[in-house]
Amino acid sequence: MTEHVSIPSQPMPFIDLDAQSRRIGDKIEAGIKRVLAHGRFIMGPEVGMLEDDLGVFCGAQHVVSCANGTDALGLVLMAKGVKAGDAVLCPTFTFAATAEVIAWVGATPIFVDVDSDTFNMNPASLEEGIATAKRLGLAPVGVIPVDLFGLPADYHDIEPICRAHGLWMLCDAAQSFGGSYRGKKVGSIGTASCTSFFPAKPLGCYGDGGAIFTNDEELAGVLRSLRVHGQGSDKYDNVRIGLNARLDTIQAAVLIEKLKILADEITARNVAAQAYNKLLAEVVSVPQISKDCVSAWAQYTIRIEDGRRDQVAQSMKADGIPTAIYYPKPLHQQTAYKHYPVAGSRLAVAEKISHEVLSLPMHPYLTLDVQKRIAESVVRSLSR
Ligand SMILES: *Cc1c(COP(=O)(O)O)cnc(C)c1O
Repeated sequence: MTEHVSIPSQPMPFIDLDAQSRRIGDKIEAGIKRVLAHGRFIMGPEVGMLEDDLGVFCGAQHVVSCANGTDALGLVLMAKGVKAGDAVLCPTFTFAATAEVIAWVGATPIFVDVDSDTFNMNPASLEEGIATAKRLGLAPVGVIPVDLFGLPADYHDIEPICRAHGLWMLCDAAQSFGGSYRGKKVGSIGTASCTSFFPAKPLGCYGDGGAIFTNDEELAGVLRSLRVHGQGSDKYDNVRIGLNARLDTIQAAVLIEKLKILADEITARNVAAQAYNKLLAEVVSVPQISKDCVSAWAQYTIRIEDGRRDQVAQSMKADGIPTAIYYPKPLHQQTAYKHYPVAGSRLAVAEKISHEVLSLPMHPYLTLDVQKRIAESVVRSLSR
């Protein structure tokens, strides 16, 4: 007689890290065990190996791993000597870390509006922001475009603006590593690019982690020094004020294994995004991706207009479908940031879409059946 064990149905995950773990969990555990065996937990050999692998993957000449994506951005601003009186332009519709690091070094973030189709920095608003900085007597020094939800920013239009005004361009690629823009891999664009290995990002570790990519050898050298207390030629030679911002060896070991399947996972995310677009394009605003971009699809985000977003999210929750709102409030409306200047007079698009965006479950292991269930719930929730 066979006994049937019924497995209780698990709630649907927003990001299915268990599925990835079933695929390569044994390899990751073997990597972690190797680190436990050699015991070099700080700057062990896996750190350099990962940096080499990341450079090969994205085509950047120099890769500097670090403790998290926020430190990655902050280290570049420190290396660039950004200071009080300087202005750095960034989109208002992003995670707080993008602007936080500008304030860390005493400079002024100037918030720029976004495009409602791509959710990314609007180049016309960037131009306005540069003018705003000058009008306020600040010196614009750089721009931090964000590849929101995994889609590379509009670099074709943003880069010439930076060049014309003599500004560096630091790409916040925390959500987009694995994507590409007009044949260039994310990580090979701009003065430098930064990513995050926070567990929920497209390439995530089992804790905090981050990396900086650049083709500027001098900048890379300064970054390597800054991540270890501004170290000079040896450990007790300190040539600048730095941070303790190293990536743990154990996290590097995890990432070495995860990077091996990243390209395949990005393909799977793109298949899932296209399936969502087919299922949903007639009922809601779906993300628009131009043909020369590959998004890493950190999020798949629809827009629900007419003030109905929160009701739809509630109704989907009742159907057992998890959703998330990235981001309910643009940074220029946040308590910590609302005293900073904005480009022009208002950031109307970001203010509007923050009430419309709704992110659906997205990960490389979504099946079409599950996506159909999710899409049916969207349709049903809209008609409730
Ligand atoms: C996650 C994220 C960061 C910060 O990365 P951490 O590793 O969490 O410090 C910065 N910018 C954006 C756009 C992010 O999504």
